[in-house]
Parts: sequence; C-alpha cells; structure tokens
Amino acid sequence: MATVLLKPENIFSVGKIVCVGQNYLKHIDELSSKRSETPVLFLKPSTAILAQGQHIILPEYSREVHHETELALLIGTLARRIKSEDWREYVAGAGIALDLTLRDLQAKAKERGLPWAVAKGFDGACPISDFVPLGHIQDIQNLSIGLRVNGILKQDGSTSEMIFPVGDLLAIISGIFTLEPGDIVLTGTPAGVGPLKSGDHLEATISEIGSMVFDVL
Ligand code: MG
Repeated sequence: MATVLLKPENIFSVGKIVCVGQNYLKHIDELSSKRSETPVLFLKPSTAILAQGQHIILPEYSREVHHETELALLIGTLARRIKSEDWREYVAGAGIALDLTLRDLQAKAKERGLPWAVAKGFDGACPISDFVPLGHIQDIQNLSIGLRVNGILKQDGSTSEMIFPVGDLLAIISGIFTLEPGDIVLTGTPAGVGPLKSGDHLEATISEIGSMVFDVL
C-alpha cells in the first residue's frame, strides 16, 4: 500500500489522488489548450505513487512521457463541501509531486474525446516528496516552483500564477469528491513541461517545502 510521510514521522496511507489540469495560463498556452471556466479534474490511483529512492520507469506503450511539477496537498481531515476560506483546517501538509503524463496517449484521447486514465494514472505516474506541515508555510500562493532536468532549468513558476487558488480548488473538489485523510490533491503545473528520456536526473523544488530528486531508468 502506498504511503507518504508528513515530517517528521506521521505516515499516511494514500487514498485517491485528485489532480487539477490547466491551472496556469502559460501552461495552457504551451499546450494550445483553452482556458476552462471550472477546474479540469482527473484522478490517479494510489498505485501511481512513486516514493523517493524509487526510479521513474518509462512505460513501453508510450513514446512521450512528460514531466509536470506541481504543488501537492495532503488531506488530514475529512472534507466535504468545504468553504474556500476554511481550507487550512483540512490540509495536513504540502509537498512536491510530478504529474507524469503520457502526452502521446493523452493527445489521442483528447482528439477522440476519451478519458485520460491511462495517460495520467499508470504505475509510477506520481513521484512524490515528503510533506511539510502546513504551519511551516507562510503563503501557499507565493511559492516558487521549479524543475531541473540534468541540471538545466526547465520549469520555473510561482504558485501566485494559479488560475484557481488552493482554497477555491479544495472547495470545488470537495463538493464533488469527499476528501479523506491520506488523499492528495495536485494543483496543476506551471509552463515548461517536456519529455523525459532514460538516464535523466530530475530535481524538483518548491520554496519553503524543499526539493526532491528522481532518476529515470
Ligand atoms: Mg498536471
């Protein structure tokens, strides 16, 4: 069973992973997507979790696995139809996640109006860091978020650029999916997504949270 650590020693069994797509304008532009009036939501199963120390494995049924670096929120208290201003009461901690995406399969699914389950939910599609208690973070909407691949800066954004801020996201999401302790919410990626290849070394960083590293087998 997949688990994540809320530092220093609080272990959560991961439930569902609710992800938000297209939450940063420049990323919408780079994919030539259209801005949506409501958040684009999708799910990853808990088996997508990849703990630090494990390796990213590129599935053989895709030729284009993209990195998307995202702020992750760990739910600590059951949340159902919450108010946006109350979001802090339900979140135990914040971390870093990669929303790995099979861009070729996703493009085909988009074209045909089919679901993204395979493109987003395959085994290992969610490399994740340890979580930092929310109290350690001053302003969740003012964190720099970045990714280096083989030392080269590829993604460089700020959570201030989110179209739907964290409180609004959790209010909307919890009105659709009851969020339970151990569930994780991924809040969307800034621009700069791109393909991974075997041998790549990734270092993702969010200010006030820290950094995580993963290697691609
Ligand atoms: Mg994403």
